[in-house]
Parts: sequence; structure tokens; C-alpha cells
Amino acid sequence: MAETAPTALLLSIGSELLLGETVDTNAAYLGQELARLGMELRAVQQLPDDRKVIADAFLEALAGGDVVFATGGLGPTHDDLTREGLADALGEELVEDRELAEGLRARFGGAGRMPVSNLHQARLIPSAQPLDNPVGSAPGWWVERNGRAVVLMPGVPAEMHRMWREQVVPRLERRLRLFPLAMRTVKTFGLGESAAAERLGDLLEVPGEGIEAGIYARDDGVHLRFSTRAGAARLEEPMARALAILGDDVYGTDEQTLPGVAMAALRRAGVHTLVTIESGTDGALLAILAAHEPAEGEARYLGGSLVQEGPEPGEIPAEAILTVRLGAQAALGRSRVTVSLAAPGIGFEGREVRIHGSGAQRLRRGAFAALDLVRRECRADEQEGRA
Ligand code: AMP
Ligand code: MG
Repeated sequence: MAETAPTALLLSIGSELLLGETVDTNAAYLGQELARLGMELRAVQQLPDDRKVIADAFLEALAGGDVVFATGGLGPTHDDLTREGLADALGEELVEDRELAEGLRARFGGAGRMPVSNLHQARLIPSAQPLDNPVGSAPGWWVERNGRAVVLMPGVPAEMHRMWREQVVPRLERRLRLFPLAMRTVKTFGLGESAAAERLGDLLEVPGEGIEAGIYARDDGVHLRFSTRAGAARLEEPMARALAILGDDVYGTDEQTLPGVAMAALRRAGVHTLVTIESGTDGALLAILAAHEPAEGEARYLGGSLVQEGPEPGEIPAEAILTVRLGAQAALGRSRVTVSLAAPGIGFEGREVRIHGSGAQRLRRGAFAALDLVRRECRADEQEGRA
């Protein structure tokens, strides 16, 4: 029998998720964690705070995966019904657990200070083990039934993350044979998604045994990702082939970012402070550079920034000045970005790139296009220097 990763299903519980008031970041977090840990997440379902809906969903999920995870609905109020829903699904009674009740009272600094409603959180079904929540009042639950497990965790992301790391991951590691998903990413800029797919051809469709390939268009370019549960070493060959095929359009791999790569290239060219002048971008370039964390031991390179409407840079002392002008043709969803770079020994004047998109996405893509031009220029210069 082929060995496969244990399967998981996730229920994200809370009416605010279905109303679009809260974004389901718990699902994004657990999706990444489960892949890395070595389980296969089959589906994520968002559910309202409705006891019957929750009970039905648990029953169905228990038939479909090795482990069912749920977050949310463990609060103290009448609308937090995850415990009740799971008890119904399993046909068990909720009983107040003396130890949990005492722990809660201690947490509130005495019986008199605890709101009565918090006692809900001390209730357990016989087959549940409580999971410690050191940063909140809602304990989690670990339940086993017919070789499958159900794990309840709080909805508050910080509480869930801590319980996941300290309580849930060690139990999963003890009980399951896990198959971690290894991933490698090639990041390109300046290529469309379909143009990249065409160049990759076969490599995208049959990247190798047990390997999957995916292609994703993002603001910072088209990313190609290979993944496998058969060991990271398998990904080396398709990575090498992809890098060779995509050539100069590749700016980095894995954790590398376009601002990081562009700034590292400028530093190699002798530039240590950069001033940016942008117009028509609403400061998109500044936002990207400000959000970029310099690697350890690297200084911040941004010496100043001018975000303006007109093109008058004024007098700004800096080693390098990067000017970006975004001209829109909004009706067509297209823009022209004009980029100039003035630095000792390197630079260019008035290069144009066309980008697509609308709204904030267009602004960000324009700013990334400018950084891509910087990285390309520095690279061309390095290659010339070597020749
Ligand atoms: P609960 O455990 O249902 O009382 O959730 C408490 C709070 O956690 C909610 O008010 C949300 O702000 C947050 N929350 C619940 N579920 C999620 C989720 N899936 N993703 C992100 N935040 C959530
Ligand atoms: Mg809730």
C-alpha cells in the first residue's frame, strides 16, 4: 500500500466569518502549518454559530478525514456553541469539570470575580481531554473516537497559535506518521502567467514523480512552485531546469523578495543609501520599501522619499536616486511606468514598462516594476564588469 499523508479537515466557526467581518486567518495559518507538518488538508469550511449546523458538520467531517480541526466558538457567551455541537455529534453529555472550573476561578482571581458565563468553558464531554490555554480563558479539546481525532481550538488567533504549537503539534507528532510537504519557489518578474507557463511546457505538467507544480500571478511577479512529500532533494532537478528556462526573468527563489534583491544589488554596486521620488503612485514604492525587513546585519538603505504629484525632485543629497512615474490609462486597466536611476557608475534614464491591473494593485505593480528594473540594471552591470 502506498504511504500517504494523514488527512485533515478544518471547520472555522463563527458567524462573523460568514458575514465577511472577520477574515479567516486561522485557516491560512493552519493551512501552512499542516503542509509543513506533514498532513494533507482536504477542505476548509466556515460555519455560523448554530448548534445544529455545527453538529452536522462534525458528523460529516468525521467520516472524511483522519483529524478534524475546529477553531472558534469556545468563548463564554451564549453564541459560542462549538462544544455543544460536538457533544451532540458524538452523543455525549457536557459535564462541568472540577479542575477546569477551579483553574478558571484562579485565572479570574477568585470565584466572586469570575462572570458566571465563563463556567461554560469548564464543561467537557467524557471523551475530551482539555488543552491548556495559557493566554486566554477557553481551554481547547482533544477528542478521540474510532481511530480519528477532533481538535477544538480558540478563535482568537494568538491563543490558537500558542495552543497549536505547544499542545496540538506534539500530540499529532506522537500519534501520526507525518509526511512534510517540501516546497521550492522560483520568482519571476516581467513575464505573464501564460507566457511563463508556455516557456515551462512539460516541466509544469510533469515535473517529476511525486512532484506537483503550480504557477501563481502576484503583484511581485509570477511565482512557480514545486512541492513534494517525497523529500526536498527531489525538487533540485526541476528547480535547476526552471531556473535555466526562465533565465533573466528570475529575480529570486524561496524567501527572496524583489525589494531585498534590488537593494542587495545596489549595495554590491557601492550604493548604501537610496532616495526615492515617485509620482502617480500614492507612495506605493515607499510602502513596499518601508515594509521590507533588511536581512540581519544589513543597514536600512532608505535615505529619504518624496511622494509627489509633479516631477520636481528638488535638492536631496543621496548616493542614488530612483525616480518612478506612473502614468495611468485607467480605462484600459493599463499603466506606463517611467523609471530613472541615478547612481555613481550605474543608472538609466526614462525606461518604460507597461503594467496591467487596477486600483491599488496597479500602483504596487508599478513600484515592483521599478525595483525589477533596478535589479536588471545592476545585474547587467555586474556581468559587463566580469566580461
Ligand atoms: P471565538 O473563539 O469564537 O469567541 O472567537 C473570538 C475572536 O477570534 C472572534 O471575535 C474573532 O475576532 C477571532 N476569530 C475567530 N475565528 C477566527 C478565524 N477563523 N480567523 C481569524 N480570527 C478569528
Ligand atoms: Mg465566536
